[in-house]
Amino acid sequence: MRIYNTMTRQKEEFVPIEPGKVRLYACGPTVYNYFHIGNARAFLTFDVVRRYFEYKGMDVTYVQNITDIEDKIIAQSLEEGIPFSEVAAKYANAFLEDSARLGNKKPDHQPRATEYISQMIALISEQVDKGFAYESGGDVYFEVNKLPQYGQLSGKKIDDLKAGARVEENELKRHPADFTLWKAAKPGEPSWESPWGKGRPGWHTECVVMSKDLLGVPFDIHGGGTDLMFPHHENELAQSLATTGKQLANYWMHNGFLNIEGEKMSKSLKNFFTAREILDIYDAEVIRFFFLSKHYRSPIDFNRELIEESDKALGNFYSALSATDWLNADAGNVLIPPELERYRTEFTEAMDDDFNSAKALAVLFELSGKIRSDAISMPEKLVHAKLLVELGSVLGFFQNLEAKLTKTIDPDLLNKIETLVEQRNTARQNRDWAASDRLRDELIVLGVEIKDTKDGTTWKIN
Ligand SMILES: [Zn+2]
Repeated sequence: MRIYNTMTRQKEEFVPIEPGKVRLYACGPTVYNYFHIGNARAFLTFDVVRRYFEYKGMDVTYVQNITDIEDKIIAQSLEEGIPFSEVAAKYANAFLEDSARLGNKKPDHQPRATEYISQMIALISEQVDKGFAYESGGDVYFEVNKLPQYGQLSGKKIDDLKAGARVEENELKRHPADFTLWKAAKPGEPSWESPWGKGRPGWHTECVVMSKDLLGVPFDIHGGGTDLMFPHHENELAQSLATTGKQLANYWMHNGFLNIEGEKMSKSLKNFFTAREILDIYDAEVIRFFFLSKHYRSPIDFNRELIEESDKALGNFYSALSATDWLNADAGNVLIPPELERYRTEFTEAMDDDFNSAKALAVLFELSGKIRSDAISMPEKLVHAKLLVELGSVLGFFQNLEAKLTKTIDPDLLNKIETLVEQRNTARQNRDWAASDRLRDELIVLGVEIKDTKDGTTWKIN
């Protein structure tokens, strides 16, 4: 299996540190607002990476952090007039809800930065003691000139890093590219005691501490959006090199940008969409299909035409399954004959080639086309349908197969059910069993039967 490694700018054979195991870390959200549709692409990309490794029989440990203390959260708390911890809790819950709605499987660990403050202070102290960091005016900065490997991941040279969009000039720093490890608190800001006075950790320190704690260093794969490569990932790596002398991860994966109708998404262009807004309009599986129809490293353009194509393609999968009367078929006893193994082979070859989901989807197209054609008999159609469901599930499709195939549900009712199921998922994640039971009762009244499995909740209408 080959993965494009940002560190070496080439596809490399994937060799896990421990055979059969994959330790994966992908940067999660900073919870100051609802996450946008570009973030959704990153979260979904690494959900599929994780699912595919699991399909290959690997034992995956997937960590996705929640950054619940950061400048943007403080700014938002001033804007909303509520304490920063309430802002963080509100948008962390929204993140869990929207992520589940996108069909992403819950990561094995979702550490929150505020649970790790003492370990962050320890890591910063270590960098000061080793001469890589210095205190200045209550802040602590990493001194990039002290680390010869600085710039290794992004390919940037320290001398070229003058003040700009991503490098903040500040008279407390020795070099404009020096980055904040600890930030002194202004009056009224949330803060923790430290050897440098009251303050809070910098974002780059948060991720390195949480990944190191839960996965050990180095771990196998570090993922995130291309926009995080510099400075965020470069600065995580710098801290690992400074304190352990080791690489943080063996492979760095970065997913491409998302544009809206050919333009960069921005609030000023008024083309900024949260995932929540998009999910209120389109089915989550259509969005999933849309993302996977392009290679994760390619830029993708969010436009009506592509969404409609995705909707149609997905509709073909479902009509193929309906044609086999899938729900009443005894698929458990259907065996895949050797001559059809080639579908699995083609699918895995595509995914083994740096997760080429677009090519893998072509295999699903071929299967659904076969099922819908008159060229094959019903027993053969069922064999193809079994493969379609198996391979589609690897990409995260068909999570509510029963509900979708049972009957055409009134869209308003469907919306209501999905909202209640999401609210119940959140309640369960928060261990609010009373709310979870109440929501289940509401669903029963609507004729919905809920099933909780280790892979998440499914439902159907009786
Ligand atoms: Zn991060």
